[in-house]
Amino acid sequence: MPSISDPIISIKGLGRKTSDRLNQLGIHTLEHLVFHLPSRYQDKTSITSLSEARINDEALIEATIDRIETIPSRQRQLLCYLSDNQNNRILLRFFHFTQYQKQALIRGETMQCFGEIKIGRKGLEMHHPEYRIVSQNQKPLLEPTLTPIYPLCSGVTQNKMKQWVNYSLEVLKMSQLDDYFEKITQQSMPTLQNSLMMLHHPEKNEDLSKISSFKHISQQRLIIEELATHQLSLLKTKKARKGKKTNAFIVKNSLSNKLLNTLDFNLTNAQSRCIKEINNDLASSEPMLRLLQGDVGSGKTIVAVFTLIQAVENNFQAAIMAPTEILARQHLQNFTHYLRPLNIQIAFLSGSQNAQERKTQLNLIENGEAKVVIGTHALFQESVNFKNLALVIIDEQHKFGVHQRLSLSKKADKTPHQLVMTATPIPRSLTMSAYADLDTSVIDELPPGRQAVETVALSNARRDELINKIRKISNEGRQIYWVCTLIEESEALRAESAEKTFNYLKDNLNDLTVVMIHGRLTKSEKDSIMKDFEMGKINLLVATTVIEVGVNVPNASLMIVENAERLGLAQLHQLRGRVGRGSEKSICILLYQSPLSENAKERLDILRQSNDGFLIAQKDLELRGPGEILGTQQTGIASMKIANIVRDAYLLKEAGYYSSKMLEASHDNQNALINRWIDEEKTDYFDA
Ligand code: ADP
Ligand code: MG
Repeated sequence: MPSISDPIISIKGLGRKTSDRLNQLGIHTLEHLVFHLPSRYQDKTSITSLSEARINDEALIEATIDRIETIPSRQRQLLCYLSDNQNNRILLRFFHFTQYQKQALIRGETMQCFGEIKIGRKGLEMHHPEYRIVSQNQKPLLEPTLTPIYPLCSGVTQNKMKQWVNYSLEVLKMSQLDDYFEKITQQSMPTLQNSLMMLHHPEKNEDLSKISSFKHISQQRLIIEELATHQLSLLKTKKARKGKKTNAFIVKNSLSNKLLNTLDFNLTNAQSRCIKEINNDLASSEPMLRLLQGDVGSGKTIVAVFTLIQAVENNFQAAIMAPTEILARQHLQNFTHYLRPLNIQIAFLSGSQNAQERKTQLNLIENGEAKVVIGTHALFQESVNFKNLALVIIDEQHKFGVHQRLSLSKKADKTPHQLVMTATPIPRSLTMSAYADLDTSVIDELPPGRQAVETVALSNARRDELINKIRKISNEGRQIYWVCTLIEESEALRAESAEKTFNYLKDNLNDLTVVMIHGRLTKSEKDSIMKDFEMGKINLLVATTVIEVGVNVPNASLMIVENAERLGLAQLHQLRGRVGRGSEKSICILLYQSPLSENAKERLDILRQSNDGFLIAQKDLELRGPGEILGTQQTGIASMKIANIVRDAYLLKEAGYYSSKMLEASHDNQNALINRWIDEEKTDYFDA
């Protein structure tokens, strides 16, 4: 007897080659076929009379052949004139046809035709309709249920796909599909089997508009199950982590009070709250894994400093990992500023150190002299041995994969406490789904006195106007960033294009100091440029996106971003956050290449209208989807079978409720859910 878990190759007439192709769509078993849902439906459940046929609608009609005609010219056509019994007329047009086809169309025969109703010069027309000559006993097109249209891959026809799905549905009817979700919903929603049956073959009275907006109860049921299952797998990781034991810190105040006294500002309420939430975690023997979110400039760094001094007070080491060398060095500088007065020794590791420097730093780390270790991913190379690492802080997390995060944790004897800081806010729906394994703290308040950055969009054709603007700002003693977001394919072309911009600016502003910084410079070259810029020795800094994250030069008050239409909103917002750090009014000019697409226009408008990183992140998610925001490392959420984080965000809360129920289920029940909804290739990160 066939089983729903049989491989598709077991279907008669489905060969190896086709099976390979379907595998590419993620279809391996009959069960996968029943989850391969239609992308839309055709309504062949009733015959539309010609007098009621609406232009541009798809309709099934029935009429009798009056006359056949062939247009012989180069664009040969077969015309078939039909009328119904009320003498309403329609013309069928075929641009390709066989003699056999033509011969079957005889005056007086009755046809059923399905296709889009068009309007021609002489009235209603259909082009290449699907048709049956019912008066010749061909099987009518009229169907009892709506007709599914499936997503296809090359080499597979709609008819074949339909046939295989229907076969799988027959097998489904005979099998017991594990439906744990049904148990926990207590029959408040349709069963899995009924939901699938309905979606493959909706009855003619089903509300198609509901189905096409994914609001039908059967769809909602599947969506909730899928969302809940994704959350389940993350919650399982969380639970496993909480089951581990780590060093509980004794939260002390002597260092933090000292630190507080050195600050020339007061913490915002939001910062204090986040520090408190973190300290609560640190005091527990369950390892912390907390996401610290805040808008650009909300002051995440100081919260990190308060976190790591708890490790130091408890005589442990803390590590801070940043995604780029520049950012790591910026952290080194910032943290040194805060920690030196407290006599806390810092070690630094990056890929570009020479052997001697590196050895010195490795020693400090190994013998425990360095209580705080800052670096890039060089931190988790094998040669790095910590004395007693107990806290890991990761900055700008979505640039790192989850795996990288974990390999640094493995440097500790016990799972360390971890604080993950994001560069820009993550929309709530994503924290509820993709980050369900993390606890979250949000700095939802900016330090007082911040001025919104005025944002202007300007066509690239008007870039000459910027020369005077730059000179004016510079004469006022303030500095300027010019960001080349390079779009050329090759590194060589990219360098060339940045070089061109640089020369253009240098030539037109030869009274100013214009310097370019880019990824191909050595570390010490980059360092000295950034230092010069910080010290005000450079008026205009032409940069590739290396300045994207972290740099802090409050005197910079104008930023120009080239090709802004190509960048994500979150990225632009992050870039823009490099200005507006001082007390002066700051401006960000987004240069774009005309003509702008509707979508690009909308995106630039959002930036012009809002300085709220949370709102911008949400819009970015809506316009570009979760894949763009999460990056390639966490694609599980980005490629779900039915659910869509943006469209179905309103169901996340309910899904959260069911995921916690699922967490109480048996191993077998959990695995059945996870196997159903999460592709194996993607599950490995959950176990890590
Ligand atoms: P981000 O959240 O973008 O990483 P930073 O931590 O770099 O922000 O902080 C941005 C700037 O704001 C820094 O110059 C920092 O000294 C300053 N800052 C942080 N917290 C406060 C505060 N409570 N009041 C005033 N300024 C603050
Ligand atoms: Mg920062």
